[in-house]
Amino acid sequence: MRIDLHVHSSASDGVFSPAEVVRKAHANGVEVMALTDHDTVSGLKEARKEAEKLGMRFIDGVELSVSWGGRTIHVVSLGPKKFEPYRELSEKLSKQRDLRARTIASKFDAMGIYNTYEQALDLAGNGLNLSRRHFALALVQRGTVGTEDEAFEKYLRDEGPAFVKTQWMTLPEAMRFIRETEGVAVVAHPGRYNFAAPLTTIDLLEEFKALGGDAIEVTTGSHFEAENERYTRVALNMGFLASTGSDFHGCKPGRPEPGLQEPLPDYLPTVLDLLKDR
Ligand code: AMP
Ligand code: MN
Ligand code: MN
Ligand code: MN
Repeated sequence: MRIDLHVHSSASDGVFSPAEVVRKAHANGVEVMALTDHDTVSGLKEARKEAEKLGMRFIDGVELSVSWGGRTIHVVSLGPKKFEPYRELSEKLSKQRDLRARTIASKFDAMGIYNTYEQALDLAGNGLNLSRRHFALALVQRGTVGTEDEAFEKYLRDEGPAFVKTQWMTLPEAMRFIRETEGVAVVAHPGRYNFAAPLTTIDLLEEFKALGGDAIEVTTGSHFEAENERYTRVALNMGFLASTGSDFHGCKPGRPEPGLQEPLPDYLPTVLDLLKDR
């Protein structure tokens, strides 16, 4: 069965509308999918409607931005039953993101790269959820860099010249939030994080586990193949259920379309075990 529990739409930093990404997943043979936009539930209604029309199973999701170990990490909440707290959170974070975007733009101004705020806003499907990715797209569009990855490497990466530190929720706050809204907590793309020594991703996963965390993404479009293998072993050793997702944002070379990330090994228990009623 083809599953994709991590996909973005224009409600955050994805290119396609919620209905469009559902149609893409369906065209690729996905039977169960979750939409997991950054810090917002605003795309879920449209996505669910389209999924129901196409006879797919749809699971609500959100990818929460969390500060841990001096870095931003992502925790996906799957199948929450309460949505009002998310709307309140989004309202707060939307202001924080807008302020951050203006500060990022002033850093670009100082480097002689002007009007990036206006351009990022113009490229954003949802101006209330401005992301670093919109700045990366802006830089590609104006030819300052050749690719999105180059925009991150040169300017937008953590501690890069256009980086603005943001205090997101702490991990205990995020876990309390997910518990109170009755979602299932999943650490997104664990292979992607680069903590400063001596902290490692295993420290993060141990704390997540101690706080009641259920699952980790094992195979994802945001991992290299070796990382998929590594986190298969980590899930088994640490007793995490496995999740999987493309982390699709838009068609990008080297990144899978919805549902086309490497499948989970069939012997791994999956997070769907906890989502039977959702
Ligand atoms: P933000 O939530 O505004 O900090 O933006 C983070 C988003 O930027 C992530 O969700 C990714 O979509 C994208 N991103 C982060 N790091 C990179 C990177 N190194 N290369 C390409 N995209 C990235
Ligand atoms: Mn993103
Ligand atoms: Mn992420
Ligand atoms: Mn994501």
